[in-house]
Amino acid sequence: MIPLLLIWLLFGFICYWLAKKQGRDKKIAFVAGFFLGVLALIYYLIAGEVKQTCQFCKEKMKKGAIVCPHCQREVNMIKK
Ligand SMILES: [Zn+2]
Repeated sequence: MIPLLLIWLLFGFICYWLAKKQGRDKKIAFVAGFFLGVLALIYYLIAGEVKQTCQFCKEKMKKGAIVCPHCQREVNMIKK
């Protein structure tokens, strides 16, 4: 039998890893994975990468993109 705590930690680490790949908040992902388990995992699998919207054509593109893949225009990065 695998201790339940180990399964929780495993979910936490999987969510952490997915969030890292997608450019999301890793700490939140770990906590969510730890407490919500499968639900958090499904959320991160469905949610995919963080997207930004092009200010010219309003199409979605990857976060951090400099040139829009739809209209080929240079996108001004809005710094937080
Ligand atoms: Zn565009």
